[in-house]
Amino acid sequence: MDPTLTVLLFSSVAAGSASLGALPLVLRERLPIAWIGWANAVAAGLMLGAAYALLVAGLDLMPVWGATGALLGIAFVYWTHAVSGTADLELNRLEETSPEYGYKVLLVNALHSAAEGIAIGVAMVESLSFGIFMALAIAVHNVPEGTVLCAILKSRGVRLADAAGLAVATNVSQVLLAVAAFAVLTAAPSAVTWVLGFGVGALVYLVVFELLPESYRQAGSTSIALVTIAAMGIVVLLSG
Ligand SMILES: [Zn+2]
Repeated sequence: MDPTLTVLLFSSVAAGSASLGALPLVLRERLPIAWIGWANAVAAGLMLGAAYALLVAGLDLMPVWGATGALLGIAFVYWTHAVSGTADLELNRLEETSPEYGYKVLLVNALHSAAEGIAIGVAMVESLSFGIFMALAIAVHNVPEGTVLCAILKSRGVRLADAAGLAVATNVSQVLLAVAAFAVLTAAPSAVTWVLGFGVGALVYLVVFELLPESYRQAGSTSIALVTIAAMGIVVLLSG
C-alpha cells in the first residue's frame, strides 16, 4: 500500500475508535465520577507510553534539537489554550449547560487530538511499523478519552449516538495532522528530530495539564497514579 494511504488508514482507525468510548454509556445511564478519573488515567498512561516511545526513537538523533522541539510542543499547547480562552477550563464538568462550555470542550479535544496526529505522522516517517504501533496506541487511548467526552456531552442532553459522532469528529484533526506531518517530513527529513521532540513535549504537557489534574479529585491519588503507571508500562513494554 502507498505509505501515505497507510498513514491515512491507521490515523483514521485511531480517530474512529473514539466512538467506542460511548459503549460504557450504553450500559450505564450515568458513569460514576471515579470512572471518569480512571478513564483519564488510562488515557494519560497510554499517552505517556507513546511519548516514551517517541523519545527513544529520537535519542540517536540530535538531543538538543529534540529538546528544542519539545519546548516548541509545550509552547504550542500553552499558546493554543491561551488564545482560545481554555487555559483554566475545567474539562470534566458534567451537566454544565452553557453552550460556550460545550464548544470549548470540543475545541480542547480537537486541539489535543491534533498534537497526537503530529506524533503519529512523525512516527510513520521513522518507520511505517513504528507509526502503525503509535497509531494503534493512540487508537486505544482514544477510547477512554471518548468515554469522558461522551459522558460530558450526554450529561448536557446530547444523544449518545451524536456524542459518539462528535468524539470521532474532534479526532479528524488527528488524521489531518498525521497525514500533513508525514507529507512534510518525507519532503524535509532534516526536521524529523524537531518534530519528534515536538510530539514528546506536547504529549507529556497534555497529560500533566489536561488529563491528570482533575482525575486525582475524581478517583483518588493512589488509584490514579497506579492506573496511569500501569497503562504507561504496557505501552513501554510493547514498544520494546
Ligand atoms: Zn490524548
